[in-house]
Amino acid sequence: MVAWGMETDAMCVLCKSAAETLDHLFFQCSYSAKLWKSILALTGYSRGPLTSWQAEISWLVTHFQWNTLLSKVRRFSFVVLVYKLWGERNNRIFKGGELTAGVILRQVMNDTRGRFSGGKWAASDDNRTRDFFATWGIQVHFGAIGRIAAGQVLFATAGGFCGDCVLKAELEAIRCGMAKAKDMGIPQIQVRSYSKCVVQMITGLYTTHLGTIWD
Ligand SMILES: [Zn+2]
Repeated sequence: MVAWGMETDAMCVLCKSAAETLDHLFFQCSYSAKLWKSILALTGYSRGPLTSWQAEISWLVTHFQWNTLLSKVRRFSFVVLVYKLWGERNNRIFKGGELTAGVILRQVMNDTRGRFSGGKWAASDDNRTRDFFATWGIQVHFGAIGRIAAGQVLFATAGGFCGDCVLKAELEAIRCGMAKAKDMGIPQIQVRSYSKCVVQMITGLYTTHLGTIWD
Protein backbone atom coordinates (compact mmCIF):
# COMPACT_ATOMS: atom_id res chain seq x y z
CA MET A 1 0.00 0.00 0.00
CA VAL A 2 2.84 2.32 0.77
CA ALA A 3 4.24 1.58 -2.66
CA TRP A 4 0.93 2.63 -4.25
CA GLY A 5 0.90 5.83 -2.19
CA MET A 6 -2.44 5.16 -0.54
CA GLU A 7 -3.67 6.26 2.84
CA THR A 8 -5.92 3.65 4.41
CA ASP A 9 -8.21 6.09 6.22
CA ALA A 10 -8.98 8.11 3.09
CA MET A 11 -12.39 7.98 1.43
CA CYS A 12 -12.66 6.33 -1.99
CA VAL A 13 -12.89 9.12 -4.56
CA LEU A 14 -14.65 6.93 -7.13
CA CYS A 15 -17.81 6.12 -5.14
CA LYS A 16 -17.31 8.54 -2.22
CA SER A 17 -19.00 6.09 0.13
CA ALA A 18 -16.36 3.72 1.50
CA ALA A 19 -12.81 3.69 2.81
CA GLU A 20 -10.17 3.40 0.13
CA THR A 21 -8.24 0.14 0.19
CA LEU A 22 -6.66 -1.54 -2.83
CA ASP A 23 -9.34 -4.23 -2.94
CA HIS A 24 -12.10 -1.68 -2.56
CA LEU A 25 -10.72 0.72 -5.16
CA PHE A 26 -10.17 -1.89 -7.86
CA PHE A 27 -12.88 -4.48 -7.24
CA GLN A 28 -15.42 -3.74 -4.50
CA CYS A 29 -16.16 -0.13 -5.42
CA SER A 30 -19.48 0.30 -7.26
CA TYR A 31 -17.76 2.44 -9.95
CA SER A 32 -15.04 -0.17 -10.57
CA ALA A 33 -17.44 -3.12 -10.28
CA LYS A 34 -19.61 -1.69 -13.06
CA LEU A 35 -16.57 -1.43 -15.35
CA TRP A 36 -15.33 -4.94 -14.50
CA LYS A 37 -18.75 -6.34 -15.27
CA SER A 38 -18.76 -4.62 -18.69
CA ILE A 39 -15.22 -5.72 -19.59
CA LEU A 40 -15.90 -9.27 -18.41
CA ALA A 41 -19.06 -9.35 -20.55
CA LEU A 42 -17.08 -8.09 -23.57
CA THR A 43 -14.54 -10.86 -23.04
CA GLY A 44 -17.31 -13.47 -22.82
CA TYR A 45 -17.83 -13.86 -19.07
CA SER A 46 -21.03 -13.17 -17.24
CA ARG A 47 -20.02 -12.23 -13.72
CA GLY A 48 -19.13 -9.24 -11.56
CA PRO A 49 -15.65 -8.69 -10.15
CA LEU A 50 -14.28 -10.92 -7.42
CA THR A 51 -13.56 -9.10 -4.20
CA SER A 52 -9.77 -9.09 -3.97
CA TRP A 53 -6.60 -8.86 -6.01
CA GLN A 54 -5.64 -12.37 -4.97
CA ALA A 55 -8.92 -13.90 -6.09
CA GLU A 56 -8.99 -11.94 -9.35
CA ILE A 57 -5.40 -12.75 -10.26
CA SER A 58 -5.77 -16.48 -9.62
CA TRP A 59 -8.93 -16.46 -11.76
CA LEU A 60 -7.04 -14.60 -14.49
CA VAL A 61 -4.14 -17.04 -14.39
CA THR A 62 -6.39 -20.09 -14.76
CA HIS A 63 -8.68 -18.60 -17.43
CA PHE A 64 -6.36 -16.58 -19.67
CA GLN A 65 -3.13 -18.52 -19.53
CA TRP A 66 -2.97 -19.37 -23.25
CA ASN A 67 -1.00 -17.62 -25.88
CA THR A 68 -4.01 -17.26 -28.15
CA LEU A 69 -5.16 -13.89 -29.40
CA LEU A 70 -8.40 -14.16 -27.41
CA SER A 71 -6.41 -14.64 -24.22
CA LYS A 72 -4.08 -11.77 -25.14
CA VAL A 73 -6.98 -9.38 -25.78
CA ARG A 74 -8.57 -10.36 -22.49
CA ARG A 75 -5.36 -9.97 -20.50
CA PHE A 76 -4.59 -6.65 -22.19
CA SER A 77 -8.06 -5.21 -21.54
CA PHE A 78 -7.85 -6.20 -17.87
CA VAL A 79 -4.47 -4.52 -17.45
CA VAL A 80 -5.73 -1.38 -19.22
CA LEU A 81 -8.76 -1.26 -16.93
CA VAL A 82 -6.59 -1.47 -13.79
CA TYR A 83 -4.38 1.30 -15.20
CA LYS A 84 -7.40 3.48 -16.07
CA LEU A 85 -9.00 3.01 -12.63
CA TRP A 86 -5.76 4.06 -10.96
CA GLY A 87 -5.46 7.02 -13.36
CA GLU A 88 -9.05 8.11 -12.66
CA ARG A 89 -8.47 7.86 -8.93
CA ASN A 90 -5.35 10.09 -9.23
CA ASN A 91 -7.08 12.45 -11.62
CA ARG A 92 -9.87 13.04 -9.12
CA ILE A 93 -7.46 13.59 -6.24
CA PHE A 94 -4.83 15.71 -7.95
CA LYS A 95 -6.64 17.43 -10.81
CA GLY A 96 -10.24 17.43 -9.70
CA GLY A 97 -11.72 16.15 -12.97
CA GLU A 98 -14.19 13.28 -13.12
CA LEU A 99 -14.82 10.84 -15.96
CA THR A 100 -17.92 8.66 -16.04
CA ALA A 101 -17.59 4.86 -16.08
CA GLY A 102 -18.92 4.97 -19.66
CA VAL A 103 -16.01 7.16 -20.80
CA ILE A 104 -13.49 4.87 -19.09
CA LEU A 105 -15.08 1.84 -20.77
CA ARG A 106 -14.74 3.48 -24.21
CA GLN A 107 -11.09 4.32 -23.46
CA VAL A 108 -10.34 0.71 -22.51
CA MET A 109 -12.00 -0.52 -25.70
CA ASN A 110 -10.18 2.04 -27.87
CA ASP A 111 -6.79 1.21 -26.37
CA THR A 112 -7.40 -2.52 -26.80
CA ARG A 113 -8.63 -2.09 -30.38
CA GLY A 114 -5.61 0.12 -31.15
CA ARG A 115 -3.22 -2.42 -29.70
CA PHE A 116 -4.55 -5.37 -31.69
CA SER A 117 -5.91 -3.85 -34.92
CA GLY A 118 -2.50 -2.93 -36.31
CA GLY A 119 -0.65 -6.03 -35.15
CA LYS A 120 -0.14 -9.29 -36.97
CA TRP A 121 -2.20 -12.10 -35.50
CA ALA A 122 -3.88 -15.38 -36.33
CA ALA A 123 -6.59 -17.28 -34.50
CA SER A 124 -8.81 -20.23 -35.09
CA ASP A 125 -11.71 -19.14 -37.30
CA ASP A 126 -15.13 -19.88 -35.87
CA ASN A 127 -18.28 -17.94 -35.07
CA ARG A 128 -17.24 -17.38 -31.48
CA THR A 129 -13.90 -15.84 -32.51
CA ARG A 130 -15.53 -13.72 -35.23
CA ASP A 131 -18.13 -12.43 -32.76
CA PHE A 132 -15.44 -11.66 -30.23
CA PHE A 133 -13.40 -9.54 -32.65
CA ALA A 134 -16.50 -7.83 -34.04
CA THR A 135 -17.45 -6.83 -30.48
CA TRP A 136 -14.03 -5.28 -29.92
CA GLY A 137 -13.90 -3.75 -33.42
CA ILE A 138 -10.72 -5.67 -34.28
CA GLN A 139 -10.55 -6.21 -38.04
CA VAL A 140 -10.16 -9.67 -39.55
CA HIS A 141 -8.13 -9.41 -42.81
CA PHE A 142 -7.78 -12.96 -44.04
CA GLY A 143 -8.81 -16.57 -43.53
CA ALA A 144 -7.61 -20.02 -44.59
CA ILE A 145 -9.44 -23.32 -44.62
CA GLY A 146 -7.73 -26.72 -44.46
CA ARG A 147 -9.58 -29.70 -45.95
CA ILE A 148 -8.82 -33.36 -46.41
CA ALA A 149 -8.72 -34.54 -50.05
CA ALA A 150 -12.40 -35.57 -49.90
CA GLY A 151 -13.31 -31.95 -49.07
CA GLN A 152 -14.15 -32.26 -45.38
CA VAL A 153 -12.95 -29.24 -43.35
CA LEU A 154 -10.05 -29.98 -40.99
CA PHE A 155 -9.40 -26.50 -39.66
CA ALA A 156 -10.08 -22.82 -40.27
CA THR A 157 -7.84 -19.94 -39.28
CA ALA A 158 -8.23 -16.19 -39.56
CA GLY A 159 -5.96 -13.28 -38.87
CA GLY A 160 -5.05 -9.64 -39.24
CA PHE A 161 -2.05 -7.51 -40.02
CA CYS A 162 -1.09 -3.90 -40.48
CA GLY A 163 -2.03 -2.51 -43.89
CA ASP A 164 -4.59 -3.35 -46.55
CA CYS A 165 -2.66 -5.00 -49.40
CA VAL A 166 -4.77 -7.79 -50.94
CA LEU A 167 -1.74 -9.74 -52.13
CA LYS A 168 -0.22 -9.60 -48.65
CA ALA A 169 -3.51 -10.83 -47.17
CA GLU A 170 -3.50 -13.81 -49.56
CA LEU A 171 0.11 -14.66 -48.68
CA GLU A 172 -0.56 -14.27 -44.96
CA ALA A 173 -3.55 -16.60 -45.26
CA ILE A 174 -1.38 -19.23 -46.92
CA ARG A 175 1.41 -18.83 -44.38
CA CYS A 176 -1.11 -19.08 -41.58
CA GLY A 177 -2.76 -22.20 -43.09
CA MET A 178 0.61 -23.88 -43.62
CA ALA A 179 1.67 -23.13 -40.03
CA LYS A 180 -1.59 -24.60 -38.75
CA ALA A 181 -1.15 -27.73 -40.90
CA LYS A 182 2.41 -28.09 -39.58
CA ASP A 183 1.16 -27.73 -35.97
CA MET A 184 -1.36 -30.49 -36.62
CA GLY A 185 1.40 -32.77 -37.95
CA ILE A 186 -0.02 -32.94 -41.48
CA PRO A 187 2.89 -34.21 -43.61
CA GLN A 188 1.83 -32.96 -47.03
CA ILE A 189 -0.46 -30.19 -48.22
CA GLN A 190 -1.66 -28.75 -51.48
CA VAL A 191 -2.04 -24.96 -51.58
CA ARG A 192 -4.90 -23.44 -53.55
CA SER A 193 -5.44 -19.74 -54.09
CA TYR A 194 -7.83 -17.71 -56.22
CA SER A 195 -5.05 -15.19 -56.80
CA LYS A 196 -3.01 -15.70 -59.99
CA CYS A 197 -0.20 -13.51 -58.58
CA VAL A 198 0.06 -15.65 -55.46
CA VAL A 199 0.21 -18.89 -57.44
CA GLN A 200 2.92 -17.36 -59.65
CA MET A 201 4.86 -16.18 -56.61
CA ILE A 202 4.77 -19.59 -54.97
CA THR A 203 5.76 -21.39 -58.17
CA GLY A 204 8.52 -18.87 -58.90
CA LEU A 205 6.90 -17.58 -62.11
CA TYR A 206 5.98 -14.13 -60.81
CA THR A 207 7.33 -11.10 -62.64
CA THR A 208 6.56 -7.55 -61.63
CA HIS A 209 4.44 -5.40 -63.91
CA LEU A 210 5.88 -2.12 -62.66
CA GLY A 211 7.83 -0.13 -65.23
CA THR A 212 10.79 2.11 -64.52
CA ILE A 213 9.47 5.29 -62.97
CA TRP A 214 12.23 7.85 -63.54
CA ASP A 215 12.95 7.39 -67.27
ZN1 LIG B 1 -15.36 3.27 -4.03
